[in-house]
Amino acid sequence: MKFLKRAYCRTFQCMFKIIMPLLPYREPKRVKDYEELGYDLLELGGRRALVVTDKTLNDLGLTKNLLETLKKMDINYFVFDKVLPNPTISQIEEGLKEYKANSCNCIVALGGGSVMDCAKMIGARAVRPNQSVAGMRGLLKINKKLPPLVAIPTTAGTGSEVTVTAVITDDKTHKKYPINDFSLIPHLALLDAELTLGLGKFTTAATGMDALTHAIEAYIGRATTKKTREASLKAIKLIKENLLSAYQNGNNYQARKNMLEASYLAGVAFTRSYVGYVHAIAHSLGGKYNIAHGYANAVILPVMLKSYGESAHKKLAQIAKYVGLADASASNEKAAQSVIDWIEGLNFTFGFKSNFPELIETDIAELATAANAEANPLYPVPVLMDREELEHIYHKLLVQ
Ligand SMILES: [Zn+2]
Repeated sequence: MKFLKRAYCRTFQCMFKIIMPLLPYREPKRVKDYEELGYDLLELGGRRALVVTDKTLNDLGLTKNLLETLKKMDINYFVFDKVLPNPTISQIEEGLKEYKANSCNCIVALGGGSVMDCAKMIGARAVRPNQSVAGMRGLLKINKKLPPLVAIPTTAGTGSEVTVTAVITDDKTHKKYPINDFSLIPHLALLDAELTLGLGKFTTAATGMDALTHAIEAYIGRATTKKTREASLKAIKLIKENLLSAYQNGNNYQARKNMLEASYLAGVAFTRSYVGYVHAIAHSLGGKYNIAHGYANAVILPVMLKSYGESAHKKLAQIAKYVGLADASASNEKAAQSVIDWIEGLNFTFGFKSNFPELIETDIAELATAANAEANPLYPVPVLMDREELEHIYHKLLVQ
């Protein structure tokens, strides 16, 4: 990246870091069970809830405890179960129609990242009827309090229950992009590990790698705080100790519970300290080829960490030593390499590839433009890369 652009990016990031303590970050109230969720939702004024979920979860009966509680508490509910992976603007508009038609005044999202992000944007559109979803792209364009919003994650990866972000795909342009606003942080969150017991192996692995990517990108970036560094390290340790167990034995309740905690902590870290180029590239590939987000991150992460080279060694070494991948006496370079080896080993165990057969060389310029627009100047990555430099990363992800 050219000197002037680099200076601009770093100044922009530095300003955000300085004002961070003044920004209205908050965490959702974590409720312990459905009953507490019901009482707290009533207290927030929720009387008519739009329950946002997907058809599979609803058909499997995973919404049962939630719906019974809402009924018991006299909270009317209307189920919108049409969310699909990589939620689109059309789905948000359809959900909004249901929300309005039933005079809802609160939203409960039960599902993975796609469901929670769709629910967030239904809420955003409800309070901003004159602003399109596309018009809210980027930073702080919503600026209005959402209706009471409850998040119940059914995967351990996205961390959307605690973040300022919703990731949306424009069905017309096939562009996938994040929308960030403090109002998108849910008011209540319930981490119910029972809901994740039936998750298939691919989803368990891909979403777990998404959480790992959140924690690592936040930690190696330049906008960390003591709180986000601690949250990242704890998340990575929990992932190291539990992801393989959850993958190998889906019914391991403790491993599932710990993975949900890891995902939450990684969310705490990246919502304040941002992600990096792995995410920007993964979003571009997700929008263009509909590649699962966590899977894309898993494939890109080791490639990107190698490309950062020496600039990321110190931070990666700290991770390695904290989670027990390297001895305290190991050099930074060696310890950093142990993190990359570990990630590649996980990918191998999961049967993930090291490239994307979907990726077409002639699409790279367009994809790199999207990644550049998402990441620069916002993401405080260890090494800044412009569009051309990002194109090199895409080339490494082609089937050779
Ligand atoms: Zn992610």
